[in-house]
Order: sequence, then structure tokens, then C-alpha cells
Amino acid sequence: MNYSHQELVEWDKTYLWHPFTHMKQYLMKEPLIIVRGEGVRVQDSLGRWYYDGTASIWLNVHGHRVAKLDEAIKEQLNQIAHSTLLGMSNLPATVLAKRLIEIAPKGLKRVFYADNGAGAVEAAIKIAVQYWANLGKGTKKLILGFENNYHGDTLGAVGVSPDELFHWAFTSLLPDHPRVPYPYPYRSKTDDPLRESLDAAEKTLQERADEIAAVIVEPIEGAGGIIVPPDGFLSKLSKLCSRYEVLLIVDEVATGFGRTGFMFACNKENVSPDLMCLGKGISGGYLPVAATLTTEKIFEAFLSDDFKKSFFHGHSYAGNALGAAVSIVNIDLLEKLIPTLPEKAEALSKMLAPIAEEPFVGEIRQAGFMIGIEIVRDRKQKTPFSYESQAGWLVANKARELGLLVRPIGNVLIFMPPLTATNLELEQMTHILLKSFYLTRDDLSKL
Ligand code: PMP
Repeated sequence: MNYSHQELVEWDKTYLWHPFTHMKQYLMKEPLIIVRGEGVRVQDSLGRWYYDGTASIWLNVHGHRVAKLDEAIKEQLNQIAHSTLLGMSNLPATVLAKRLIEIAPKGLKRVFYADNGAGAVEAAIKIAVQYWANLGKGTKKLILGFENNYHGDTLGAVGVSPDELFHWAFTSLLPDHPRVPYPYPYRSKTDDPLRESLDAAEKTLQERADEIAAVIVEPIEGAGGIIVPPDGFLSKLSKLCSRYEVLLIVDEVATGFGRTGFMFACNKENVSPDLMCLGKGISGGYLPVAATLTTEKIFEAFLSDDFKKSFFHGHSYAGNALGAAVSIVNIDLLEKLIPTLPEKAEALSKMLAPIAEEPFVGEIRQAGFMIGIEIVRDRKQKTPFSYESQAGWLVANKARELGLLVRPIGNVLIFMPPLTATNLELEQMTHILLKSFYLTRDDLSKL
């Protein structure tokens, strides 16, 4: 496709409405338009190269233009691009389902496909509620969630993770699901944030288990600012769910497929949830594929002569053949990569250490290749910058000038390199990050 930079800029500004973007500010600036990628870098329409420090929004696993992934799509194109899963099947979606169950926590036995993370969450919520309804326990229809967890932007997902800034206009459309605090050690007012969170969850379950279908949780809070709960959180939560007879939905859309250094974050604590939501890295960051995995026990509650007990839910592109074909090869490659990740994550942690000394850095949080750098006005008092101050963007824009794409959420700078970045590439990326903080010290002090 041969278009000039000027044409692209004009059309972008005239026709596009960007997701999660403050369009008023966006339209005042020269847009960044990516035209190609290679390894861990992407190139813009002016020929400039950048490190992809967001892994193209947390989903790229092996880098861009990986020969084996490219080939998987080309080979599948020679057969068929898409064929529906409604009442029939296709080859790659069938093989991928088997592969997913082989690598998933041991209790998960069935794969229900979607085409984005929010869609996987919607399916999980609906399966959980209908599971109890099918068993004649229709009072169990609420979902217990955690404050500041993010599960996607469709209304069902928003219902279990509403956010004042993002969702204020939709409150009338949202059910009143209960929520409890997520353990956030850096900002907790208690010395045992894990206990605080689990006690609150247990109290709600004690009082309302007969109304609650499931608990939904992010094993590491991603969009809430990369908040890493103390060890034991997920396993203890899983035990609580069993004790009070509610299902556990683990949202691994962001954490799955090697992002935390494990295939799934659940593996770290040996947790096998009742439902697991997958997206983002499932296809290596190539195509929109997502899935909800469930146990056989849940699946069997939908097997009935009563038509009403079927799960009448699904999307046209579910089980897309091209997406499934590339996902299979992504998993093959990832299985070889996983054993190399702990050592690399450790090296990355050392590379990040000098950034923690910067005067406006409150805390660096890391779970494998998910990194959040919380920017604060005052390190001793942990005083946050206001959302409007855009402190995160100040640093991110500097990093972009220096050749690294990163994206803040509020005042937490999120750094998520592709998992195949070499130590040298990681060193170059973290060096740009350090330099970006150093060069914005003056501007941050004036905010
Ligand atoms: N769950 C989690 C934990 C996520 O991080 C995201 C996206 N950031 C979603 C769900 C939604 O995924 P998608 O954007 O593909 O709908």
C-alpha cells in the first residue's frame, strides 16, 4: 500500500475515532502511524523506528513478522480463512481447543471461543450465572469483583469492573455487583493488605453466597496500574470460593501466555479456576482470538433435553480459522520460550533498578514482563499526581522522542516488552526509560 505520510495524517484526523483516546488532545498533535514492524520494533510513516514497549497493547509475544507465525497464516489462507463454529466445526479451531486444554490448569476441559478479551469475560459471566440457573439455583446471579480490576469495555464486563472516569455515563445500565478491595501493598492503609482483601471477600461470601454466582479476579491487576498482590492471594481466594460454593473466574486476558513468566499466572500458585478468560497473547498478538475455558462439571450443566439450558451465546468470528492457526504455532513457540523467561525477568529487574532512584518514581512493580512504574509528586508522602496533570504522558512522550513506545494508565507508566526481546534490547529500552525520567524531572516538578 503506497500512501504518503501527509495523506495518512489527513485521513487519520478526518475519519478515525481512536479507542481509549482523548480525541481533543489527539487532534492537536501529529499522529503516530505505524506502517511496519520487525522483531521488537515498529516503524512509522516517516521511517522512524521505535521499540514496541507496549507489545502493541500487551499482546505481542514473539515480536513482529515472526517467520513461523507468518507462515501459519499463509498456509491456512491456502485452505480457508473463516468458517463458522455455530453448530459445526473447523480444523484449526478444533486443534487449538485441544492445545489450549493441554497447557491450561488441569481442571479446565472445554474451550468456548470469542474474539476479544471483553467477549471472553462476557461469556464467563453468563456461563457462571446460567450454570446455577440450570441447576435450579437462580438466586445466584451476582458476581463478586475487586476494586480497580479491569475486565473489558462491553457492558457485562463494565458491570463487574465499573470505573468512575471511564463509565460514569453508564451507571444506569449496570447491575449492582458487590466489590471488595484488591491487595495494593504500596497504598494500603493496613500492614496486611492481603488479609484485608481476603477478609472483605470472605465477609461478602458469608453474607451473600446464595446470591453470588462467581468471583471474578485479575491475578495481577493490569490496567489498574500493574498491582502485584502478595503471594498466596489467588490460592487463598480459590479456597474461599470452594468453601462458599461460588465459581472462580480468573481473567488471564492480560497475564496469560507467558506475560508473567509462567504460561498462566494461575500456574504460579497452582490454581485451577472454574472459568479462565484468555485473549491478547493467545495468537502471539497477530489476530483477534479469545477464549473462555471451563471445567467439565460446568459444561455438563448445559447438557439437557431442555433447549433452554443450552448456552445461546456466540460471535460470528468465534473460532476464526486464521486466528486459530496462528495461535497453535504461537503456543508451540511459547512452550520453548517459557523456560528462558525467569532468568530474563530477573535480568530485567536489575536493569529497571536505577529508575527506582529517580525523584518522581514512587514504586516499580514487576511480574515477569508486566511492569508498572508509579509516578508520584512526593516519594516520602507517596502523593499522587492528579489524572489531569498527565504526568505519565510527559514521561511517555519523552520516551517516544527517544525511540520507545510506552503508554501510561493514569500516572503509572506501563512497560510490557515482547517476551522475545533480548537482554541487549531490554537494556536499550530500560535505558531510554531512565533517560526519559531524567529529562522530564524539571517538567514534572512544575506540574
Ligand atoms: N481483561 C483484562 C485483564 C484486560 O487487561 C483486558 C484489556 N486490557 C480485557 C479483559 C479486555 O480485553 P479486550 O481489550 O481484548 O476486549
